[in-house]
Amino acid sequence: AAAAALTEFDGTGRTSDGHEVPLLANVGGAKDARGAADARAQGVGLLRTEFCFLGRDSEPTHDEQVEAYKGVFDAFPGRKVVVRTLDAGADKPLPFLTDTSEPNPALGVRGYRTDITSPGVLARQLKAIADAEAQSSAEVWVMAPMISTAEEAADFAAMTTEAGLKKPGVMVEVPSAALMSESILAEVGFASIGTNDLTQYAMAADRQLGSLAALNNAWQPAVLRLIGLTVEGSVAEGNAKPVGVCGEAAADPALAVVLVGLGVSTLSMTPRALAGVGAVLNSVSLDEARKLAEIAVKAPSAAEARARVRAELPVLESLG
Ligand code: PEP
Ligand code: MG
Repeated sequence: AAAAALTEFDGTGRTSDGHEVPLLANVGGAKDARGAADARAQGVGLLRTEFCFLGRDSEPTHDEQVEAYKGVFDAFPGRKVVVRTLDAGADKPLPFLTDTSEPNPALGVRGYRTDITSPGVLARQLKAIADAEAQSSAEVWVMAPMISTAEEAADFAAMTTEAGLKKPGVMVEVPSAALMSESILAEVGFASIGTNDLTQYAMAADRQLGSLAALNNAWQPAVLRLIGLTVEGSVAEGNAKPVGVCGEAAADPALAVVLVGLGVSTLSMTPRALAGVGAVLNSVSLDEARKLAEIAVKAPSAAEARARVRAELPVLESLG
């Protein structure tokens, strides 16, 4: 049945009892976006805008930016496209924004923090996103990477409003943001959990070091608990805001089921993972997903969490 579901994937993620979980794509530019549309993504959950300008040693002009963003929006007319503002630094240095002499780049001026050292770049980027949106029919949401406090979330929301953009959000990829999600979500319209960085920072394990892969694993129950806390903050009274996941965790079909069980509302992933995630999600009810989430969160280790959840998902075998 799962193999059949793989070939029949219609782009809609849903559990066996009909709970819908939009499956979106992570893209780095227009070409990726067209591939994602062909793979039936329902929209873009993460446009990594820094990928449009890697290797550039000067800030892209307004027109260059509008063209790059519009190329992505045009692949998804009428659909949601979540644009992440420049996440320069650490594993994604941009010569015009990144100070490569920092002793600890992952803990340094990266992501949203570059607005402190290079004021103006973010405001200009938001203006270009707004102009690209005005020339397309996509439903554009915009979010900032590496938000650590509610104050940063409020400042970012004010900047997006100033640029004429309507739907500001934040990435939750720093443990402080997961712990403070209720206050942060009071300032913005949505959150998207970046499990790659959230795992790196929760486990204090560099995501670029293969030797630390066992620690740097989103199945770590500590990471799953931070995801659960983020969702709890989003559903606190009077504060119901969508929380998605756009890190690599969403592309692991068994882990995707756990994320849905934790209350995550959308999953964004590399387009080639869409059909497999859709098939496995469709093999469980929402209630079963919640039970699997509880099993994973209570497991004593990442390996146990993964093994215990996978043992309950026989459909995985037919995916190969
Ligand atoms: C993440 O950190 O999980 C994420 C989606 O962002 P990036 O991988 O681009 O840092
Ligand atoms: Mg990240």
